[in-house]
Amino acid sequence: MAKKGESTLRSWLVIALIIGVLVSLYRASPDSSSKTDDVTLLEFYEAIETGRLVQPVTRVIDASSGETFFTGEMELNGDLNKDGSPKKRKYRVTLVPGENEQVMDDLLNSRINVKLEERKSFISPAILHILIFVLMMGLLYWLMFRRAGGGNLFGFGKSKAKLLDEDGPSKKITFSDVAGIDEAREEVQEIVEFLKNPEVFKKLGGRIPKGILLVGPPGTGKTLLAKAIAGEAKVPFFAMSGSDFEEMFVGVGASRMRDVFSEAKKRAPCIVFIDEIDSIGQKRTGAGAMGGTHAYEQTLNTMLVEMDGFNANEGVIVIAATNRPDTLDSALLRPGRFDRQVVVELPTLKGRREILELHGKKITFTPDADLDRVARGTPGFSGADLANLLNEAALMSVRKKLDGVDMETLDEARDKVLWGRERKSAGYSPKEREYTAWHEAGHALLQVLLPNTDPLHKVTIIPRGRALGVTMSLPEKDVLNRTRKYFLSQMRICCGGRIAEELILGDVSTGASQDIAQATQIAREMVCRYAMSEKFGFQSFIEESAFSATNHPPAFSDETSREIDAEVKSMVSEAYLDAKKIIEENREKLEELAKALLEKETMDGRDVERLIRGEVAAENSKEKDSSEQTAEGENA
Ligand code: ADP
Ligand code: ZN
Repeated sequence: MAKKGESTLRSWLVIALIIGVLVSLYRASPDSSSKTDDVTLLEFYEAIETGRLVQPVTRVIDASSGETFFTGEMELNGDLNKDGSPKKRKYRVTLVPGENEQVMDDLLNSRINVKLEERKSFISPAILHILIFVLMMGLLYWLMFRRAGGGNLFGFGKSKAKLLDEDGPSKKITFSDVAGIDEAREEVQEIVEFLKNPEVFKKLGGRIPKGILLVGPPGTGKTLLAKAIAGEAKVPFFAMSGSDFEEMFVGVGASRMRDVFSEAKKRAPCIVFIDEIDSIGQKRTGAGAMGGTHAYEQTLNTMLVEMDGFNANEGVIVIAATNRPDTLDSALLRPGRFDRQVVVELPTLKGRREILELHGKKITFTPDADLDRVARGTPGFSGADLANLLNEAALMSVRKKLDGVDMETLDEARDKVLWGRERKSAGYSPKEREYTAWHEAGHALLQVLLPNTDPLHKVTIIPRGRALGVTMSLPEKDVLNRTRKYFLSQMRICCGGRIAEELILGDVSTGASQDIAQATQIAREMVCRYAMSEKFGFQSFIEESAFSATNHPPAFSDETSREIDAEVKSMVSEAYLDAKKIIEENREKLEELAKALLEKETMDGRDVERLIRGEVAAENSKEKDSSEQTAEGENA
């Protein structure tokens, strides 16, 4: 909503500006330059009497304001320039029509030289009044009906869709630019065949959809795919975004929509691509902002009318993209409209590798750079994220003056993309920083010292998102199955943050709330779900059934319930005491680590391990591949 406030401010500024210009147009005569002093009749007479008036005097009859006045220069009384000449000032005396005009005339005509100047205003007052009125009405209308935003005041009705086929064949995007989303690519193959040769396709009896909806998370290559379809078929590609329509007058969005389609029909076969269709195609609940809903509805209706209005065989194919198909108005999805959906998923491991290879073609790598490993370390990354990762890595390696992108830089770039820009928040006090350093050191120490844990990947006290610091671990490979011992260690690691704070600083902070919740959760799941506690046998105590929506009573007694609570409690406190013992025994290491963190802010898992094991953090021991990165674990 910040955007809305901003654009309201902008519209007010525009209005103020227009009014300001009008007022000055109205009042000012072309050369009433700023330094002219309005003088009284008395001063004027005085200047004449003392001979300070510079000849000739100009008499101005200004048609635009209806005023008559004298203007010219007079010498200042007694004020001299450095060279001895008197200082001058510009003056202007306005005459009240009919009162002193005649007197002045007589007086001046006999004593001084008067030049007459008539100013025809370039806008007559009457027309100016009408203009102001019209503009005010326009502004009022604009204020009442515009959707948030002050842009697009001019040039409405013009089609904003960009035609993107004029780049020449060398810049054309084809399927070879799309990687890792083979299924989606196959699904749209048929469209290409049709666009290439509509006549043949029709003869063979193929049915072609008018509209295709590409559904998938941002950055997965929906736009890319649409462009590639056009590129493969060598047809024009019109692109626009639903959000373009957000800042428009009632009626403007609709007329723009009509423009796009009439243009597209002229250039058929072709593709019309509408990104972010959800911003015009929301469900019409009527609950939108005043005026806004109405404008959206018009745009949406126009689009539907246009789509219904042409025959599928005409060769205009509308491709729309969204990541929120559930919010779309059902009218959009009816037969003859966007009745074909193609899902564009986040890439799998194989897909990620292909995308990295594709975008990596233009980049020089050092021999140790392993894109396969990057692919394994980037679950959940979109194609755009991966392209971004490689781009960042290339920039970083230029900055580091490397010969090529190496593995370390790839790792850094991955973290950068993963976490977004490292945010050094202003509200992060030195005290909070210290608490965070001890807290994370506590986690990291246990992560390294305990058996049955994932390798430590990285520790940082740079706040990111809502976490003040993070201790990250990375499992060796994709983990589908966890063991009891793993959970026991995990619970202890959770406790480490709070314990370190208390041990060193003598007080505890709220920073551990996530850890506490996590430890409790692990214990409860071990007892209830996995039968991993010593007290209970091979038995499940899961309360809610996945198969029924109703709240049926738990399948065990109150007494059992109390026993479960007691067992969870004893497991958590055992973990806490155990963790405390380890940390107390390794207090020196903890202190060393926390100090290193305060100094370096971010430490690599391997460096932390070396520090804890008492090895010198020497650069020579770059182990070949100590961590197989697959998925992301985190203990904040
Ligand atoms: P979307 O429209 O789904 O938000 P885009 O098509 O705009 O995503 O993707 C942005 C950029 O990310 C592309 O221009 C391309 O560089 C890269 N990209 C995304 N997905 C892929 C993919 N599957 N193959 C190759 N590059 C991709
Ligand atoms: Zn923590």
